[in-house]
Amino acid sequence: MSDAEYQNLGFIGIGAMGRPMVENLAKKLPANSIISIYDVSEQVLDDVVAGNGGKIVKCLSARAVAERSDVIITMVPEGLHVRQVYLDRNIGICATDVSNKLLIDCSTIDTATSLAVKEHIFTHFPSASFYDAPVSGGVIGAKKGTIAFFLGCAEGDPNLPLLANLASMMGKQIIPCGGPSLGLAAKLSNNYLSGLIAIACSEAMNMGMRSGLDPRVLANVYSAGTAQNTICDRFNPVPGVYPDSPSSHGYKEGFKVQLMKKDFGLAVDMATRVGAQLALGAAGLQTYTDASQDPRCKDLDSRVVYRFLGGVEDWKGRE
Ligand code: NAD
Repeated sequence: MSDAEYQNLGFIGIGAMGRPMVENLAKKLPANSIISIYDVSEQVLDDVVAGNGGKIVKCLSARAVAERSDVIITMVPEGLHVRQVYLDRNIGICATDVSNKLLIDCSTIDTATSLAVKEHIFTHFPSASFYDAPVSGGVIGAKKGTIAFFLGCAEGDPNLPLLANLASMMGKQIIPCGGPSLGLAAKLSNNYLSGLIAIACSEAMNMGMRSGLDPRVLANVYSAGTAQNTICDRFNPVPGVYPDSPSSHGYKEGFKVQLMKKDFGLAVDMATRVGAQLALGAAGLQTYTDASQDPRCKDLDSRVVYRFLGGVEDWKGRE
């Protein structure tokens, strides 16, 4: 991989995930690289530029970033923001000529928006490449540089070596998922599964504890039995069972319940669109919708669904 390919990078959406991702890039890119950044919040741009000595420069629109960059990464909240960033006629990325450029969208959005943006780019700039590349691993993973990328491309895609190299500066794993929008389909189905496991784990722990079991014994039983899963083992929703889980730290520093509600809703929509029957989708979505509006749960890690479902949190005091 030649340094020239990394000389002019762009990054749009400098939020909870984007900021540590761009800061890791700044640390690891060759010394002569420049990263042009844009966010609707100008304050965050000034902070990031001030803290990263010369390698990062501020731009005043997505278009300005695109004009200066050969590779552009986007990391914004939802599909409507991705549309604005790419398709706005005056200040979007595609308002300038993006021929031959590499465009990578890491936002978790609906597959239809991603495909529409890809189609627009393909129609107007056939030599440009656009990929969906959502990530997993949360803000902590973004800071530590351990996030995983689910790439919307095939194993044999000619850009894969460059994409993998870039991803390795921000994370650990990169999985090509087969083709356009399949990175998103993989990410949404993953979050549907992990969201449902968190609800099921909360319900199972609650019924066991109310029957008289110590939650640590319950967690050991699940771990040794057929219920074994990562949510129970490392993100247990009951405070004090696993010391490093967000629940043991006031449900802070995790994956916000509002984001789980967003991703769960996108997954349910995707299932409807592709004709996949769901037995648990409506109940799961209602649970996360209500939990994300509950003042006891809002802004906290999504495993706070245990609190929302009436789980006992001060079990140590009751021993
Ligand atoms: P965030 O709200 O913290 O950051 C998003 C940033 O995008 C903000 O700084 C916002 O000002 C900016 N933005 C919004 N519209 C814009 C526009 N039109 N032009 C330029 N900038 C714009 O969100 P986040 O937590 O960083 O999440 C970003 C994406 O990553 C979401 O799709 C989310 O689902 C996904 N994600 C988040 C996590 C997590 O734990 N936070 C984990 C995995 C994936």
